[in-house]
Amino acid sequence: MPFSKQGTDTEGRSALKEAQTQLDRAAELLSLDPNLAERLRHAKRSLIVAVPVRMDDGHVTSFTGYRVQHNVTLGPGKGGIRYAPSVNLEEVTALSMWMTWKCALMNIPFGGAKGGICCDATKMSRGELQRMTRRFTFEIFNFIGPDKDIPAPDMYTNEQTMAWIMDTYSTQVGHSVPGVVTGKPAVIGGSVGRREATGGGLVNLIMSALEHLGLEPGKMTAVVQGFGNVGSVAAQELSRRGVRILAVSDVDGGVYNKAGLDIDALIHHVEWKQPVTAFSGGEPVTNAAILEIPCDILVPAATSGQITAENAPRIDCRILAEGANGPTTLEADRILEDRGVFLIPDILGNAGGVTVSYFEWVQDSQQYFWDMSEIQGRLEKIMKRAFAEVMALSAEKKVGHRMAALMIGISRVAEAMRLRGLYP
Ligand code: GLU
Repeated sequence: MPFSKQGTDTEGRSALKEAQTQLDRAAELLSLDPNLAERLRHAKRSLIVAVPVRMDDGHVTSFTGYRVQHNVTLGPGKGGIRYAPSVNLEEVTALSMWMTWKCALMNIPFGGAKGGICCDATKMSRGELQRMTRRFTFEIFNFIGPDKDIPAPDMYTNEQTMAWIMDTYSTQVGHSVPGVVTGKPAVIGGSVGRREATGGGLVNLIMSALEHLGLEPGKMTAVVQGFGNVGSVAAQELSRRGVRILAVSDVDGGVYNKAGLDIDALIHHVEWKQPVTAFSGGEPVTNAAILEIPCDILVPAATSGQITAENAPRIDCRILAEGANGPTTLEADRILEDRGVFLIPDILGNAGGVTVSYFEWVQDSQQYFWDMSEIQGRLEKIMKRAFAEVMALSAEKKVGHRMAALMIGISRVAEAMRLRGLYP
């Protein structure tokens, strides 16, 4: 199923159903107290706001914005804000639930949250985006804060969006509050290495997986769907480690070269606002076809619902390293598991981003900043530890890697809830 510039409607209600089904299965395997499982099935708080924006032509459009905090037992809510036409309450709720498990799996002291605005950011001017971001921040002002809930970038939001949120929040408070968001520019309290963290963390895990399977990076091939922050960094880091990148794509389609793509040249090409499809170093390939190219490592790093029961039988890779949130449906999961594909599941695969977000939040609160080697070293250690924990639980309980990752995350949150008890 190809994804479009407008995002996808494969998220939403079905994503929430999938997230709840995953929780139910994990709860059963963990013999979780049904009262705790019941509490975890629901988001703690959900806020829906109207975001009126004066557009460049003078008329006013009211967008709908959301912020959902699924669970804040382990710490403040944490999770991105996305701007896409697919954004709705169900999608945001599912994504906030995945953030809860992801933070707990990585053992970082955050709960799970997510937010978004239903809009097509690709068709909006910089001025419109700024006014929308500032008004949205104002509307959710009481809901967020360094000790309450800390937004970060997600689909179609970036460092600039975070800078506007931080500035609007700080203006309301009366002084600079860098810790209200992560993923902001370094000069205003961002962390070095945050932009590269999701792709870099994913490559740390791929290296662990290769070692686990006794495979050498220099003999491997990879295909990367999505060439944003996650996909481009993953492709670059893999190619630096000797992996031959056969194909990459962005929203409009991709390029394929059996001999391997020159990733540095491709990154330079897209920096000039050129689509991947216009790159001369390979043949064109569609977003649907790219997933079916035989390779050792397949990295879906675009959006959710890409690998379905329909195309899963034709996926031909040894390692599926999920950079996006929810790229594989539950049915496809079963097909790939039966076929012996080694899965690096999304809540582990893309957790490098929120892990360095945690580093950023710590640095903001200490007002003491770390250098790149410290960030990379600490990130690698956390990624490798989480990978080892998932492998160990998967072997012990004879469950797939996704279920093992979910079980670790869910059991940590449940244990904290049990200890804290139910108020009143
Ligand atoms: N949006 C990213 C995610 O889905 C990052 C979240 C964060 O850094 O808070 O994991």
